[in-house]
Amino acid sequence: MQHFINVILPIPLEKLFTYSVSNADFDYLKPGMRVAVPFGKSKIYTGLVYEIHSTPPEVYEAKEIHRILDEHPIVNQLQLKHWRWIADYYMCTIGEVFRSAMPSAFLLESETLILKNEKGVVNEGDLNDDEFLVYEALLHQSILKVHEVSAIVERKNVLPILNRLIEKQVILLKDEIYERYIPKLVRYVKLGINYTSEEKLEELLEALTRAPKQSQVVLSLFQLQAREKKPIKIDDLSIASGGSKAVIKALIDKGVLEEYRIQTDRVNYEGIHTDYGLKSLNSHQKKALEDIRQNFDKKKVTLLHGVTSSGKTEVYVKLIEECLKEGKQALYLLPEIALTTQLISRLQDYFGEKIAVYHSKYSVHERVEVWNNVIQKKSKAQIVIGARSALYLPYSNLGLIIVDEEHEGSFKQFDPAPRYHARDAAIVLANLHGSNIILGSATPSIESYHNSQTGKYGYASIERRFGNVLMPDIELVDLKEQTRKRRMKGHFSERLLNEVTESLENGEQVILFQNRRGFAPIVECTTCGHSPQCPNCDVSLTYHQYKKQLRCHYCSHHIALPESCEACGSQTLDTKGFGTEQVEQEFKTLFPEAKVGRMDLDTTRGKYGYEKIITAFEQQELDVLVGTQMLTKGLDFRNVSLVGVMNADSLLNFPDYRAHERSYQLLTQVAGRAGRTKKRGKVIIQSYNPYHQILKQVSVSDYENMYKEQLYEREQFLYPPVNRIIKITFKHKNYNSLNEAAEWFAKSLRNVFGKGILGPEYPPIARIRNQYIKNVIIKIPLGQPLGKTKNSIKRIERSFNAISQFKSVRVIYNVDHI
Ligand code: ADP
Ligand code: ZN
Ligand code: ZN
Repeated sequence: MQHFINVILPIPLEKLFTYSVSNADFDYLKPGMRVAVPFGKSKIYTGLVYEIHSTPPEVYEAKEIHRILDEHPIVNQLQLKHWRWIADYYMCTIGEVFRSAMPSAFLLESETLILKNEKGVVNEGDLNDDEFLVYEALLHQSILKVHEVSAIVERKNVLPILNRLIEKQVILLKDEIYERYIPKLVRYVKLGINYTSEEKLEELLEALTRAPKQSQVVLSLFQLQAREKKPIKIDDLSIASGGSKAVIKALIDKGVLEEYRIQTDRVNYEGIHTDYGLKSLNSHQKKALEDIRQNFDKKKVTLLHGVTSSGKTEVYVKLIEECLKEGKQALYLLPEIALTTQLISRLQDYFGEKIAVYHSKYSVHERVEVWNNVIQKKSKAQIVIGARSALYLPYSNLGLIIVDEEHEGSFKQFDPAPRYHARDAAIVLANLHGSNIILGSATPSIESYHNSQTGKYGYASIERRFGNVLMPDIELVDLKEQTRKRRMKGHFSERLLNEVTESLENGEQVILFQNRRGFAPIVECTTCGHSPQCPNCDVSLTYHQYKKQLRCHYCSHHIALPESCEACGSQTLDTKGFGTEQVEQEFKTLFPEAKVGRMDLDTTRGKYGYEKIITAFEQQELDVLVGTQMLTKGLDFRNVSLVGVMNADSLLNFPDYRAHERSYQLLTQVAGRAGRTKKRGKVIIQSYNPYHQILKQVSVSDYENMYKEQLYEREQFLYPPVNRIIKITFKHKNYNSLNEAAEWFAKSLRNVFGKGILGPEYPPIARIRNQYIKNVIIKIPLGQPLGKTKNSIKRIERSFNAISQFKSVRVIYNVDHI
């Protein structure tokens, strides 16, 4: 009988691909193992076995697999079910989920390498600009990959360039498969096989009398072996014997010693387990814990609504402890930007080596190791802390999922597919495992709070800060009035300046929040009003003073700051608006004595960029920290008495139905950084519109009314949570083609669904990287079956793709777009 496997390939194919396997392979293979398979003319992909069967494919001849890559499944059945759900719900393919779920090191694939053709004679004058760039790069670098060539010539499709270079005998191509994960190996030594008998050993020591260094090494090896009773590292032997590596190598070469390697973990926890024991909860925390347990008993998703600094983390710690007692795995999800060393070391104090950390700034090697530890149910990965991708690890018995800061928008993946919401995908995952799940926040999303109000979710709350610390005192400052009365110095009102002065005099720290990075968002000519634009995107370039550059935040296009206006030639370029860099600058001139740091995307690149700034501030090497919303997340600084919000208006005026909810959340979270110890913290919010409803609600911590008003608006305009939305984005280089395509699609949607279709509409930035963009929004009433709706949309897409002029238009679905 013939055998076949259906394989998930890491590419956006609607269907699984079928390959044939031999009898022997059939006996060996299990779903969840990887196989290398040929695809198309010459590609080789890593695929994942989804199912094994004996039905040949109907429309094509099944090819044979190349080889099997695993001895055991590295993905389990629960994961496959979870992926299936993600693909169906978020309208993408399971291949796209596969690609995003696995550490890239698991996805070895054939990759075309570009080498210099050593035999060719290159006439540089023959090459056009792009070709020359590639040629030049190969003079400095022996191998290039296709994506590197793309980066060099700044364009996607480089095949024509490569083809011409092959014709001109400048380059050669080479196809290579390689495994990217290199385990870290530690070198060990033992006595060579010929010297293990006693008499041989005596002979050896006899022979070594004239080589005292070598005989010392052999003796030390004996001593170490007797004492340690475990493999001896070369490094340790070298230290114990005082013999250099060269001496040891000489003995290895002679066959006296034998070298061997054992794979070790890169992700070892080096800290010392202090075992302080858990803190005991106060009565508010206990009550919350009790409520949570009762909801867990009813198998309910539970929302923990606790004000900033109320001690939610300690409640999670108790839940984790209970989960560990049952021998189950726990997952602690955090928004990407919140992953702080603070929280990790706090949890390590309690749980020591049981904690593994998993997120995108970690190297592929580290991620592979966490993956393997989870699959083997090792105790060192019993608790995983991570950003949204930690959802994808191969858990087999989850007992608890914590989604901390559940309101955070960064839980939703924006690009590429799957455009999933990690909170919602976590709820589904908990369901598959039958595990408990808790969502925590000081400012819950309207959705989750709504679900707790309707009884769909359980609810627990902590309304007081731990230790009876008071909620910060929030004062709104009217910038219009301050300007009129000439009380402004730059962007600082007199009120803010006075408070800063007082805090600094008391030796306390200050946080200044400005929701924009860069110096001043844009540069404008005061003569003609022109501001330099990105040539690839419909946006003004932003000014970065430090590098004296104008940069595009969408495509990284950048130019030096021009001396004069490119439109009218006047030398009257002026900066408009302001960002973190300018706040920092102004502050330095106002308070030359104070030490200021800045935290935004520009200053926190690299794996430890973020930690360095936080640590410096924590250890009070800095008096003031200026930052974007990065500094709002879950940080616990003891000495901050003042938080200044430089300008709340840009948040409130954002053109989006969530702008008000987000403003409330962000401002409350920033304010929550003030006064986390005994003394009451102070918050100054500057705004041109201090009578705005949201600002008032923030100033008196009135979440309840914020929720009611927002819900009312959502009901009026049919937005979530009273409706679902799917956003469809169309992209194309050609303006007219895009318009026609989007109109056609929207019209077809209207034919099927009637009302509830918005657009097509240009987004605020209508062109990015030379692609025009239009959006259509579909509002779906809660009663309408979602699966059917999506099928209808897909059917429309199939007809759409059958129209030749629309083929090259990209269609992107974003379900539950936020
Ligand atoms: P949240 O996560 O709600 O913002 P945290 O869990 O960070 O609050 O708690 C705020 C502060 O109070 C932390 O410094 C924490 O160590 C302390 N704390 C919270 N609960 C307790 C407790 N039961 N015993 C001692 N200290 C606590
Ligand atoms: Zn001008
Ligand atoms: Zn751009």
